[in-house]
Amino acid sequence: MDLGIKGRRALVCASSKGLGLGCAAALAAEGVHVTMTARGGDVLAAAAAEVRKANPGVEVIEVVGDITTPEGREAALKAAGQIDILVNNAGGPPPGDFRNWTRDDWIKAIDANMLTPIELIKATVDSMMERKFGRIVNITSAAVKAPIDVLGLSNGARSGLTGFVAGLSRKTVRNNVTINGLLPGPFNTDRIRGVAAGQAKNSGKSVEEILKQRASENPAGRFGEADEFGQACAWLCSAKSGFITGQNILLDGGAFPGTM
Ligand code: NAP
Repeated sequence: MDLGIKGRRALVCASSKGLGLGCAAALAAEGVHVTMTARGGDVLAAAAAEVRKANPGVEVIEVVGDITTPEGREAALKAAGQIDILVNNAGGPPPGDFRNWTRDDWIKAIDANMLTPIELIKATVDSMMERKFGRIVNITSAAVKAPIDVLGLSNGARSGLTGFVAGLSRKTVRNNVTINGLLPGPFNTDRIRGVAAGQAKNSGKSVEEILKQRASENPAGRFGEADEFGQACAWLCSAKSGFITGQNILLDGGAFPGTM
């Protein structure tokens, strides 16, 4: 299936590893020129080199920086040029007990997982609307539909973004600009291993035991893979998906037990 986005330009935030990398690789495979960002330059350079090698003819730009800062966003936007596709992503907030979180902890989470995507949407959406094409995908979390108690910072910040986008996405779609959330359940990335390491400390189990148990509890009997996530993202960014907006699409192997 030709997704009809060859030659488009994408900014994929936080994409040297995991789900962001899955999205950058899948978009590049569709002929989309991608700008990839991360704080760690070496890992980003290696990831960008792989994407470049797999997709000759596609421009792959690397921007080292913290996407949650104004400087990081400015550098990414400048390097990416005229953006047709924006994939918002950043690291997730740490787990914990809300009694221990300070105002600064909350501001940090809201900055990363709510205000940064909103700032990037603000910087790109009007130009997309003028050009009558735009696809914005926010990588959020299954926690938006089924909050996870220890991830209160994530539940709160991402729900704020989801609520904001619910309104805006109905205003942009008339100009063929869609905004949707992709909600990862458990995926086989460093993030899930980090969360499992935290759980291992308190439970007396090894990280491997915790991961194995979590995977077996999922209806699919496994975690998702980043390239599966990337494929879904690329499809949502396709020329043919202009009638889908304001949706929050779960990729969780069926873990969420409800019908909507
Ligand atoms: P990951 O494998 O740890 O990868 C995170 C990526 O983001 C890395 O490339 C990292 O590179 C980059 N990054 C993190 N903070 C950044 C920042 N401030 N500025 C620029 N780049 C940044 O994580 P993942 O599993 O792909 O998760 C992506 C998002 O999905 C996170 O918000 C996570 O909470 C959420 N999520 C993941 C799962 C899951 O099971 N994996 C489930 C639900 C939600 P640097 O560290 O070098 O910057």
